[in-house]
Amino acid sequence: MKVRYVDFSGQYAAERPRLLKIFDRVMREGEYISGRDVEEFEKKFARLCGAGHAIGVANATDALTLALKGLGVGPGDEVITAPNSFIASAGAIAQAGAIPVFVDVKPDQLMDPSMLSGALTRRTKAILPVHLTGKVCDMEAINRFARRHGLKVVEDAAQAVGAKRGGRAAGSFGDAACFSFHPLKNLNAAGDAGAIVTGDAALAARLRLLRNHGLKSRNEVSFWGYNSRLDTLQAAVLSERLKGLAEVTRRRRLNAALYRKGLAGVVECPNDEPGARDVYHLFVIQADRRDELQVFLKSKGISTAIHYPTPIHLQPSARNLRGKAGDFPEAERQSRRILSLPVHQYLTNRQIGHVIACIREFYRR
Ligand SMILES: *Cc1c(COP(=O)(O)O)cnc(C)c1O
Repeated sequence: MKVRYVDFSGQYAAERPRLLKIFDRVMREGEYISGRDVEEFEKKFARLCGAGHAIGVANATDALTLALKGLGVGPGDEVITAPNSFIASAGAIAQAGAIPVFVDVKPDQLMDPSMLSGALTRRTKAILPVHLTGKVCDMEAINRFARRHGLKVVEDAAQAVGAKRGGRAAGSFGDAACFSFHPLKNLNAAGDAGAIVTGDAALAARLRLLRNHGLKSRNEVSFWGYNSRLDTLQAAVLSERLKGLAEVTRRRRLNAALYRKGLAGVVECPNDEPGARDVYHLFVIQADRRDELQVFLKSKGISTAIHYPTPIHLQPSARNLRGKAGDFPEAERQSRRILSLPVHQYLTNRQIGHVIACIREFYRR
């Protein structure tokens, strides 16, 4: 039995008639960047996130860079983030001209708020927590720390569209939050796309200029900006897929529950705290002999992935930053143990049963 890590062809087969209609309409209308489709998607997306404003941009890496810049983060400033994220979290801080500073994570892979005070300096300007795997960070503790020290908070919610904690949606906790609609994410475009959400109307207005060269009107430039707009076609595709997001989340949560039940006592599975709605962009187990297990599963037709094998502070690009091998022991330990199992919405219960059976077989041998 083959178990693929992603299934784009399954997704397209399910949506083809609707997407072809959208493609035809947008092409006939001839508005390729911005416009009504983008505005409509932004409205719906802001509502989903419990935020007042959404600003569509070209991708989540730009979203993070623009959000930081829009909040006044720049050269000389330090921004605290997690070392176990996708490279873009720290990369965006560097792109904004600031310095990424790392703190270790908890066993659940999320930023450990008790580590923040150890990373604080006179230059600290913001915190950038990452809702890794689709689980919302301990935002109450992070926001408390930020308020006490006058710091801005930018949520990296790239993996957490639709996630909740204590009844509140990812994106509603920080000064701004950034989402990715990369093809691999839970709400996916047919290419690159992203959004910033915020409850701050003045920041939203600034970001709308910042994503479009700083152009206030056709010929008036308020400040230097970027070219990072959301394509009309992508916005139209996203509006269509937004309708199915609740079902995507439901399926992923069901798949996660099956794994948790079938793998109890065999490998460490992510927990599902009461009152939270984790959206399982990734289902990450923590396992002994991880590399061997991955090879074994591959031999059984099961694709898995590692998010991410090298912590950011150990990347060559980070050599001039604070933080060397051994400084973030939990993140480093996890990097050798984590394995992402297929969890997408098109998996059948039989496929999940097969993955569970193979993992159990591996540890029996
Ligand atoms: C995917 C991802 C990003 C970057 O998103 P893009 O839209 O590809 O730029 C940033 N942070 C995290 C945690 C991600 O998973």
